[in-house]
Amino acid sequence: MIRKPARTATGKAIRFLALPLLAAGFIAGAAAQPERQPRSLPKPVRTYAELERETGLSKPAALAYGRMAVDVGARDWPTTVSFRCHAAGGHVVSNLAPPPATRVFDNGYYVGDADVSSWAIKTTEGIILIDALTTEQDARRFIVEGLRSQGLDPADIRYILITHEHGDHYGGATYLKKLSGAHIAMSETAWRALEKQQPSATSPVPARDVTVADGERVTLGDTGITVVHTPGHTPGTISFILPVHADGQMHMAALWGGNGFPAKVEDRRTFLSSIDHFADYTGRAAVDVELSIHGDTDDLIARLEQRRRGGKANPFLVGREAYLRYEEIYRLCSRARMAERGD
Ligand SMILES: [Zn+2]
Repeated sequence: MIRKPARTATGKAIRFLALPLLAAGFIAGAAAQPERQPRSLPKPVRTYAELERETGLSKPAALAYGRMAVDVGARDWPTTVSFRCHAAGGHVVSNLAPPPATRVFDNGYYVGDADVSSWAIKTTEGIILIDALTTEQDARRFIVEGLRSQGLDPADIRYILITHEHGDHYGGATYLKKLSGAHIAMSETAWRALEKQQPSATSPVPARDVTVADGERVTLGDTGITVVHTPGHTPGTISFILPVHADGQMHMAALWGGNGFPAKVEDRRTFLSSIDHFADYTGRAAVDVELSIHGDTDDLIARLEQRRRGGKANPFLVGREAYLRYEEIYRLCSRARMAERGD
């Protein structure tokens, strides 16, 4: 069940951005494959010297923002600072082995590969899946087999929420829908971009299904996931706020839907305003858990490994303050990269 947004105030910001975004949508639709710039995984940045060495930031204004990011992130998020503040950074194609499916929360499972995430949320009425990986083969190997390895039935997937209109997030969706009868949900802007997309054998473009608006709640059984429009990486990107349970305690998780920092200055400005828009929601929800769609930004693979080793501490329960620091690094590093380019 999808409930309309409770608040209308946020609609203003979205309408304000709508025209440039629609224009950008045509361009993105023409070349909507993810940009993949292979480079080694980011080395943690904990000092100003490491910032200069690892990120390539050099202009005084860029370094000023970068140093603020170091001040904020050195303790909890040194890899995030390194990745987000990289002057030319794009998605890192990881050479790590794909992790096995991992039960991260009582109701939350990682079923992605080493590069691209897929998260399964178990509810009382079936599974909500966030992102569907690049290909049918990936969806079979990691999502279907991964869910089975955790005692879950992939036929119970009811919703497939797609963060954005790039093949590495929707490529397995058509196959998973056929398998489970699940609804595929994304933003209207993402659906429109996909309608202009050339057919692809690798990452089949799903047929139009459910549209989710800014502030809507996707509810299945006992679980409601809030959708927040966060254009920037692509015009149709959405992010999520969702409840996760650990040892019977509820926490609120934020999953930012589009990582790569866009090339065009107007998209970069949109990305920045989306960070603020999302922060409105994460603040009200008192988010204390950070999840990602690409593990190069937050030590995901290492945290999954730590989770599988067990032990008392769940490395995904970072707490409210660490989450706020994470969000602030996104803001500061985006400013650093814009200053480096003179945007
Ligand atoms: Zn993308």
